[in-house]
Amino acid sequence: MKQILWFRRDLRIRDNKILEKASNEVMPIFIFDKNILEKLDIEDKRVTFIYDAVLALRKSLQSLGLDLYIFYDIPKNVFIELEKLGFDEVLCSSDFDSYAIKRDKQINEIIPLKRYLDSFLINPRKNLKKDGIPYKVFTPFYKSLSWLSSSDKIGEAQINQNQKLYKYENKTPSLEELGFKRADLPEFLKKTPEDRLNDFREKVEEYGKNRDIFYKDGTSNLGVDLRFGTLSPRMIFNEIKELNKKNSEIFIRQLFWREFYNYILFHFPKSENENWKNIEISWSEDEEDFQKWCEGKTGVPIIDAAMRHFNKTGMMHNRLRMIVSSFLCKNLLIDWKKGEQYFAKRLLDYDASSNIGSWQWAASTGADSVPYFRIFNPYLQSAKFDKEAIFIKSVIPELKDVDAKLIHVEGALKDKYISSIVNMKYSRDRAIRAFKEAKNAKV
Ligand SMILES: Cc1cc2nc3c(=O)[nH]c(=O)nc-3n(C[C@H](O)[C@H](O)[C@H](O)COP(=O)(O)OP(=O)(O)OC[C@H]3O[C@@H](n4cnc5c(N)ncnc54)[C@H](O)[C@@H]3O)c2cc1C
Repeated sequence: MKQILWFRRDLRIRDNKILEKASNEVMPIFIFDKNILEKLDIEDKRVTFIYDAVLALRKSLQSLGLDLYIFYDIPKNVFIELEKLGFDEVLCSSDFDSYAIKRDKQINEIIPLKRYLDSFLINPRKNLKKDGIPYKVFTPFYKSLSWLSSSDKIGEAQINQNQKLYKYENKTPSLEELGFKRADLPEFLKKTPEDRLNDFREKVEEYGKNRDIFYKDGTSNLGVDLRFGTLSPRMIFNEIKELNKKNSEIFIRQLFWREFYNYILFHFPKSENENWKNIEISWSEDEEDFQKWCEGKTGVPIIDAAMRHFNKTGMMHNRLRMIVSSFLCKNLLIDWKKGEQYFAKRLLDYDASSNIGSWQWAASTGADSVPYFRIFNPYLQSAKFDKEAIFIKSVIPELKDVDAKLIHVEGALKDKYISSIVNMKYSRDRAIRAFKEAKNAKV
C-alpha cells in the first residue's frame, strides 16, 4: 500500500488522524494552492503564518523519520503527477467549505481520497434532529451534544509507528517564490502553538470574567491555531477539561459555536452568498460610508480604533467584531456581505463558516441571529467595556489626552476628533424601519 498524506488545515503531528491511519509507504505533502494564493495580497499575514507552520510541521515529521514535500501548484496538477508514481490513496482531513468540497471531488477522480474528521469535533452530516432536519438554533444544537461537551476527554489520534517514507526529490519554494513578502505577525503568533495553549491554561479560570474586556488579553487567542490546525479542537478540549476548572464550561461552549457555524454552512451552503433568512433588505449603497468604516474614519472612536487596529494586525477581539459589524449593517445599513468580504481578506483566523455565520448573526439575517431591533450603541459599548478608553487611546493617538468620559458620549468630542458620519438615533430608527419592512414583505 502506497499512501499520500495530504496535510491541509491540520498542520500538526499530535492528534492527527492521517498519521494514525497511515501504514507502510507514505509520502507526506503540503500544497501551496495557486488557486488560493493568487487572490491574496503580497503581504498577507496568513501566508507568513502558514509558511512557518508548514516548515515546523516538516521538522516534526522529520523527527518521526518522515518528511514533508512542499509543492506550489494547483492541487490537480500535483496529483496528476503523483498518480504516475503508483499511489493507492490519499489520506487527508475533512474540509467542509465550498471550494474544498469541489477540489476534493476533482482529486478523488485522480487518486481515491480518504477523509477524516480532524478540524472539527463533530461531523456536520450527523447530529440531525429527530425528524431528520438540521438544527437551526444554537442552544438545542448544543444541548443535543451534551454527551460530548460534558465528557472529560475525547479520544485523540495516535501516530502509527509502522510507516516508511517514500523518498521523493523536490525543492521547497521560498516565501518569495510563492510571490509573498514576510509579514509582521502579532507577538502572540511568534510563539509556538503549544505555548499559546499553555498561556491560556493560566487564564481559563478568569475567561468568563475577562472575555469581553477587549483591552485585556482575556481570551485564548487560539483562533488561528484552530483555523490552520496547528492545534486540534480535540486537544484544546482535552487540555482545558483536564484543568478541571469550574469556569472552563464557558470556554467549551464557545468551541461549539464554531461547530454550529460549520454545521449551518454545511447544511445551508447558499448562506455563503445569500441571507440565510428569507428576507430582502434595502441596503444602502453609500460607498463613501463603507470606505470610512474600512479605514477607521467614521468619527465614532470605538469603531475607528477597532478597524485601525484590525487593518494593522489582522486581529480583532470578538466584542469589537460584534460592535463594528452591528455598526456597519445597522447604523450604516450596509450589506453584511461587504463587511464579511473585508474581514475575509485580512482576518488572521478567517474561517468561512464562522465569519459568514457571525456576520449574518450581526445583520439579523442568519440562523439564530440577533433580533433586528437589538442594535449595539457603540458609545455605550465602549463606556461599558473600555471605561478608561485604554484600548481606544492605544490606537488613536489624537485622543491620548482627552478625558475618557467624552470619548463615550456622542458629539462630545467636538473639534478634538473628526465628526461622526452618522447620528445614532437617526440611523437606529432607519435600520428598524428597513428591517420591519423587509420582514413584512418576506420574499
Ligand atoms: C463579525 C464576526 C466575524 C467573525 N469571524 C470569525 C472568523 O472568521 N473566524 C473565527 O474563528 N471566528 C470568527 N468570529 C468569532 C470570534 O470573534 C473569534 O472566534 C474569536 O474572536 C477568536 O479569538 P479567541 O480564539 O481568542 O476566542 P476565544 O474567546 O478564546 O474562543 C475560543 C475559540 O472558540 C471559537 N469561538 C469563540 N467565539 C465564537 C463565535 N462567536 N463564533 C464562532 N466560533 C467562536 C473560536 O474557534 C475561538 O478561537 C467572528 C465574530 C464576529 C462577530
